[in-house]
Amino acid sequence: MAVRIRLVPCLSDNYAVILHEVDTNTTVLIDAPEAAPIEAALDQAGWKLTHMLITHKHGDHVQGIAALKKKYGATVIGPRGEASEIPMIDSKVAEGDVVSVGNMKAKVFETPGHTAGHIVFWFEQEKLLFAGDTLFALGCGRSFERPASVLWQSILKIRDLPGDTKLYCGHEYTLSNARFSVTVDPKNAALKRRLAEIERARAEGKPTVPSMMQEERETNPFLRPDNTEVAEALGMKGADPAAVFTELRERKNNFKG
Ligand SMILES: [Zn+2]
Repeated sequence: MAVRIRLVPCLSDNYAVILHEVDTNTTVLIDAPEAAPIEAALDQAGWKLTHMLITHKHGDHVQGIAALKKKYGATVIGPRGEASEIPMIDSKVAEGDVVSVGNMKAKVFETPGHTAGHIVFWFEQEKLLFAGDTLFALGCGRSFERPASVLWQSILKIRDLPGDTKLYCGHEYTLSNARFSVTVDPKNAALKRRLAEIERARAEGKPTVPSMMQEERETNPFLRPDNTEVAEALGMKGADPAAVFTELRERKNNFKG
């Protein structure tokens, strides 16, 4: 069954994603940072929006909902835990729920940390993970509403998804993340190679999203706090992974690069 995917840059560094299932003429938006570029992408493709899947309540993920809902009448599906802050929500979902859109199915994981009610959507069949601001290419979201240790538990829910799963995240933060990553995992040759690839892609104005879960597991320090070399680089050999993760998050918060 054919599924087409469009990555839509919005605002200064956000990404929305549009999935289109050809057989059922189902068109699904993941997060709605800004209506105009999303409408333009839909028009260009000749698709009519049928569903919006929302990962969390932040303005740069929801502020396009109202205009898109008005134009297309699409069904809005979002996190039960912060439903009151998702405009025009029709369906509230939580841990373990399965969202059906056309013939596609997405499993919902609750990933508290960045926000308390954040969710991510995993399309097992299509091998896609929409992680919002929980997990980024070579990074993770800031833990605004729950301690970093809770965000680490959330990330553990998705870390071991199949390696050929494409990770779509909410922002183009990858270059800054990569520059930080090499400071905390300096012996990782795969990471160094990836930094060079990312520098090249960004110099050419190309997106670095999506990435593959396998390469994230090998190079994203926020998936590797239980790796000895990462812990050692932080001077935390033998420490609890949650403590290492918390230290990584702290250092990234203070990283200038
Ligand atoms: Zn956010």
